[in-house]
Amino acid sequence: MTQSAERPTGTAEVGVTGLAVMGANLARNLASKGFRVAVHNRSQAKTDALIDSHGQEGEFIPSESMADFVQSLATPRKIIIMVKAGQPTDAVIDELVPLLDADDIIVDAGNAQWEDTRRREQALREKGFRFVGTGVSGGEEGALLGPSIMPGGDPAAYAELAPMLEKIAAQVDGEPCCRHIGPDAAGHFVKMVHNGIEYADMQLIAEAYDVIRTLTGASPAEIAESFRQWNTGVLDSYLIEITATVLDKVDERTDKPLVDVILDAAAQKGTGTWTVQSALTLGVPTGAIAEAVFARAVSSQPDQRAAVRKKFGDAPFETAEDKAQLISDVEQALYASKIVAYAQGFDLIQTASKEFNWDIEPGDLATIWRGGCIIRAAFLDRIKQAYEADPQLWNLLVDDSFAADVTGAEAQWRKVVGLAIANGVPVPAFSASLAYFDSLRRGRLPAALVQAQRDFFGAHTYRRVDAEGSYHVEWSGDGAEVSAD
Ligand code: NAP
Repeated sequence: MTQSAERPTGTAEVGVTGLAVMGANLARNLASKGFRVAVHNRSQAKTDALIDSHGQEGEFIPSESMADFVQSLATPRKIIIMVKAGQPTDAVIDELVPLLDADDIIVDAGNAQWEDTRRREQALREKGFRFVGTGVSGGEEGALLGPSIMPGGDPAAYAELAPMLEKIAAQVDGEPCCRHIGPDAAGHFVKMVHNGIEYADMQLIAEAYDVIRTLTGASPAEIAESFRQWNTGVLDSYLIEITATVLDKVDERTDKPLVDVILDAAAQKGTGTWTVQSALTLGVPTGAIAEAVFARAVSSQPDQRAAVRKKFGDAPFETAEDKAQLISDVEQALYASKIVAYAQGFDLIQTASKEFNWDIEPGDLATIWRGGCIIRAAFLDRIKQAYEADPQLWNLLVDDSFAADVTGAEAQWRKVVGLAIANGVPVPAFSASLAYFDSLRRGRLPAALVQAQRDFFGAHTYRRVDAEGSYHVEWSGDGAEVSAD
């Protein structure tokens, strides 16, 4: 690190390095809100394209080299990195560090793996810099018009960034969709779980579509109409809205519904997998999210799908007698499953928050996810209210209002899952959600039998319902129970 006195400093209030779709739009958002923005990209072409097409939208200071970019910024510098997550982020940090001064703030707004953020935050703190790992959701349109922003890291650094980040974030009911989430990697952890919930939300909607289409024969355009109706009720959300638009779309080449000519192999970039990996490590049941990730994996196994299909073909199915009733039942099943998916995501965040002392306020998340991001939904207002009523709420299912909704939807939920299974329509996320609910509500689980099996083959011991301590049965001896303490 060189002393600031040795180098000239510039006037840009913030810098963005990495000008692919997200970085360019974030820079434009900042400039349109009146901030003087230094811009830089590894290859000059993207910087030129931004200035050529949008240079008149605000005050941009473009630089070809990283050194010039850093020098164009006022100190303490605020630099937003928006490059491909992973090694490229480390490469950019390594290039930046020798050019920075103490107290400069680096914001990583890419989709970093949260453990990378912990490592980077610690390493940069030890060097005297401030690192704010920040989740950004909303895709390219959100970045331009107002994303949901989830900053972690040093709270004092956030305080300096807040006027800027809160101004460019989406606004709902006069509140910015941006709050400091917690120290070190809290922001990227929360963004990761946001994406995990998004996977579940999307899969649940896809299953709802599949059940209705298969069992009623409704066309995509008819289903779009149902979705539009759902969008005026408890399911009111961005994802339901765009699904209706997608289902209405006709392919220009074939005149078929577009959804029928898109290859049915869902891709993924990793945040869903990371969510499930973290849930496994922390021991948090997130079956709805996990099944959504696995559903994408199954869809992307063309050879195995072809081989199994050749052996078995489609399961026989019967068309539902009452189409309107089935659509209404599916709406309820989707809603109940969605409550479970969010309950699981929030449980994962609260567990990590305890584990890493992040002190995350779950109500804050519901607040900042109400606008700008992909899972924005009217439903998040209800989650916000649930955490306002009980900040210690450990599971959304026990909030009185959600409990009443689940009770109201339960019969239809079971009916839809049962019907789908009986007719060979795969509903992995619907059924995992229902299984989670049934597991939690059950007085006794067969886990007792699993414990006995573990004790049998591995002397892993078990606890009793009627006495303290650990016990073991001499399975291969006289069968007597002995204390294992
Ligand atoms: P991207 O395709 O993920 O990354 C392309 C950018 O990274 C380009 O600017 C590229 O520079 C730069 N880059 C790649 N390797 C580099 C390296 N070794 N050194 C320096 N720069 C390097 O771009 P994106 O879709 O705009 O996303 C940016 C970040 O936002 C990612 O972390 C992404 O996960 C996250 N994000 C994306 C979305 C979305 O909807 N797309 C939403 C939220 C968050 P060159 O032009 O020189 O190749």
